[in-house]
Amino acid sequence: MNAVLSPLSDIDTETSAPAVSFTPKEVLLGMSLEALRALVKTMDEPAFRAEQLHQWLYVKCVRSFDEMTNLKKSFRDKLAERFQVGSLVVDQKESSQDGTVKYLFRLPDGKVVESVLMYFEERGSYAMCLSTQVGCAVNCGFCATGKLGFMRNLSVSEIVEQYVYVQADSGKEVRNIVFMGQGEPMLNYDNLMDAIEILNRSAEVGMRHITISTSGVVPRIYDLAAKNMQLTLAVSLHAPDNETREAIMPINRKWPLESLMPALHHYVDTTGKRLTIEYILLAGVNDQPSHAHALGALLQTLKCNVNLIPYNPIGDDYGYKRPSGNVTHRFREVLSGYGKKVTIRVERGVDIAAACGQLANKVQDA
Ligand code: SAH
Ligand code: SF4
Repeated sequence: MNAVLSPLSDIDTETSAPAVSFTPKEVLLGMSLEALRALVKTMDEPAFRAEQLHQWLYVKCVRSFDEMTNLKKSFRDKLAERFQVGSLVVDQKESSQDGTVKYLFRLPDGKVVESVLMYFEERGSYAMCLSTQVGCAVNCGFCATGKLGFMRNLSVSEIVEQYVYVQADSGKEVRNIVFMGQGEPMLNYDNLMDAIEILNRSAEVGMRHITISTSGVVPRIYDLAAKNMQLTLAVSLHAPDNETREAIMPINRKWPLESLMPALHHYVDTTGKRLTIEYILLAGVNDQPSHAHALGALLQTLKCNVNLIPYNPIGDDYGYKRPSGNVTHRFREVLSGYGKKVTIRVERGVDIAAACGQLANKVQDA
């Protein structure tokens, strides 16, 4: 494979770098009900105004103070002097033949991130794939976001606003959220946790309907286990041995399988939750029956389902290919023989580069 993998020093794994605020005014989206109550108090307004504001922000999802019609004009004016509702601007919106919609959001500092709205016919429900960072430091060899390098963390409000904006714009009730967009969510851990709390408590997305996908940031897996949340943790394993994993995921040098696997067992033991193991299929790299057997053996005692993700092309330069349908199904059969529930991910929005790993902001800094 000719993908260039970053040295590990590029991966800032120990700190959650704070997001810098670029908006001249403070942003209301992302504030909890408690924070709104405190704010309303400082503005000498009655306490019920906080509930009203909260409703407009997270239930009615309006974009301007003028639309908050049950707030008196003088209060709306006072708010508008100091605050803005959100900070994201839609630069582009593309619709796929399969109904998937990709939103390209411009952030206040000119950077862009993408979010994807998907419809799952079999379940009759909508899901959103949210981004947590601009670019990503982990630099997996097969991922378009990794090729951007790391630019910055998204703030709590930037994470929450992706959801609120798309919900309002699409007019759909989006009840499922997956953190599988741009960035490594566990490397923006504090903001991710705060955003999840707002999405759950204010926007009322059920914890069981939220999934975090991580490439394997071991210390944060222990932190999340300690929180014992009802969400789903998905782990991008992608290989059954260190040699194969390291060749495609540089993070494996920092946290090889000897440290990742105990963390996963600890997570299951502590939370009782079943993990999702994600496994990208790259032709000739990790898709052979021998890999499936090794994976089956590795996962034998771990409470998990496995989701196979046939590689989505990100350009010819990286040397990876999607295996044939036969190879994919053979892999699934072998693995199923180990008693695992194995699904093959149906990709959404491949024609508009909105599928897993394809999000790369073609207009970054345009
Ligand atoms: N950073 C997180 C979440 C975002 S990526 C993570 O890596 O888990 C969501 C999933 O898409 C991950 O399993 C990731 O490995 C996978 N992925 C990345 N590039 C891909 C590609 N080109 N084709 C298919 N899946 C890809
Ligand atoms: Fe980052 Fe995930 Fe892409 Fe790896 S797959 S580079 S962790 S976004």
